[in-house]
Amino acid sequence: MLIFLKPGSTPNGKSRVVGVVQGLDYSVESLTIGDREVFKVSGYDSPPHPDLFENLPAVDRVLPLSRTPPLATRPAPPGGGIVRVGSRAFGDGEFAIIAGPCAVESEGQLVEVAESVAAAGADFLRGGAFKPRTSPYDFQGLEKEGLRLLARARETTGLPIVTEAVDAASLEQIESFGDVIQIGARNMQNFALLKRAGRSRLPVMLKRGMAASMDELLMSAEYLLSEGNENVVLCERGIRTFSTHSRYTLDLAIVPVLKAATALPVIVDPSHACGSRVGVAPLARAALAAGAGGVMVEVHPNPMAALSDGRQSLNPEEFKQLAGELRALAPMVARKPEAVN
Ligand code: PEP
Ligand code: MN
Repeated sequence: MLIFLKPGSTPNGKSRVVGVVQGLDYSVESLTIGDREVFKVSGYDSPPHPDLFENLPAVDRVLPLSRTPPLATRPAPPGGGIVRVGSRAFGDGEFAIIAGPCAVESEGQLVEVAESVAAAGADFLRGGAFKPRTSPYDFQGLEKEGLRLLARARETTGLPIVTEAVDAASLEQIESFGDVIQIGARNMQNFALLKRAGRSRLPVMLKRGMAASMDELLMSAEYLLSEGNENVVLCERGIRTFSTHSRYTLDLAIVPVLKAATALPVIVDPSHACGSRVGVAPLARAALAAGAGGVMVEVHPNPMAALSDGRQSLNPEEFKQLAGELRALAPMVARKPEAVN
């Protein structure tokens, strides 16, 4: 659990908080997150009830993580929590656009989309070579051939590649072709895969499971960090709720809350969250305004003919328009860690 103190709280006020924590037999450690002093409370499986602290005069707000993953909630190192990939970066003050098809389908499709997103100003090319599909009868990806095509597209466009590993074998192949390993929503709690990715030299983009809490997302990031991989980016991609008007429900509220809890860069995938083209650009703009450090957007040269996720894919023209809007909007929104109110 993290207790954010009010700026300028008195030593007396702080020791009252420490007294309550220690009286409950939890331990307490003082951290700085952004410009805020925060008490990190640990011990036992579940945290003490936030009500015990919320009314103390020194307490601003309480973030009730059940267990506080020590590495994932570390304050940012000097210079901010930035994950660099060649000349590109995710993190504080940065805004990265990842774009490309859901799946690599053919050389022609990938070349067309890669060149168009590069020309529109994308920072990374995405494309699945290994596709975790709900049905075993759906297109499963071109696998190694898909990785080869992605590497060729990188050569022609200069864009680093973000692509998904679904198991240790695919991860090993990606290590020799790719730039960023994506761990998908369905594998967010595949702990064996997380441990293996944690030992990789490549950065990892970890997507939030569709039914995972923020605690669980941070604990999965802890698996990567605890194996030594310091380059972890978190991605909100929508969660399952009772709503049926969109494929998932984009939980934009997690962006500022996660940013208060972790120095890891947080990005948003509006495509999988919404599931239809109509919502992608508005949600991407909203993600930027909410403080996300980037977006991942699916783009296909001919969405109607896509082998997966065509309904939510922008065509190159739509993407170009969105990328321009995001670039124009970026300087107008503060992307430094939010003041926590
Ligand atoms: C993807 O990004 O291709 C994907 C499968 O997304 P998710 O894991 O969020 O469903
Ligand atoms: Mn997809």
